[in-house]
Amino acid sequence: MKTNKHRILVLLLVVFITSLTSITFAQPSADKFVVVLDAGHGGKDPGRPTKNGYKEKTIALDIVLKLGKELEKNPDFKVIYTRKTDKFLELYERAAIANKADADLFISIHCNAHHTQAYGT
Ligand SMILES: [Zn+2]
Repeated sequence: MKTNKHRILVLLLVVFITSLTSITFAQPSADKFVVVLDAGHGGKDPGRPTKNGYKEKTIALDIVLKLGKELEKNPDFKVIYTRKTDKFLELYERAAIANKADADLFISIHCNAHHTQAYGT
């Protein structure tokens, strides 16, 4: 169940990013479209745990690594990660990484969870 939801989410993200490919056609070939992938939370900050024991930081990192692997197959993209391991970064550090790279797109992955009767995000 987790794997199927995960695959669907990764697929949606890849489709979204792929749809941005048209933007790269307008740029000189020497310029790459810089994408910063930010796995939310990490280290001491687990994010929102689920009742099944999954941690948001782990799911977000897994999605980011898979998405990055797919994007790196396209030579028009330069992929930068805010983290590739389970480490904590302050929000300003994440933004600084994107600004330093002069990123064209910043994607921060989070996974909401709750134990209430509410639905949606
Ligand atoms: Zn989050």
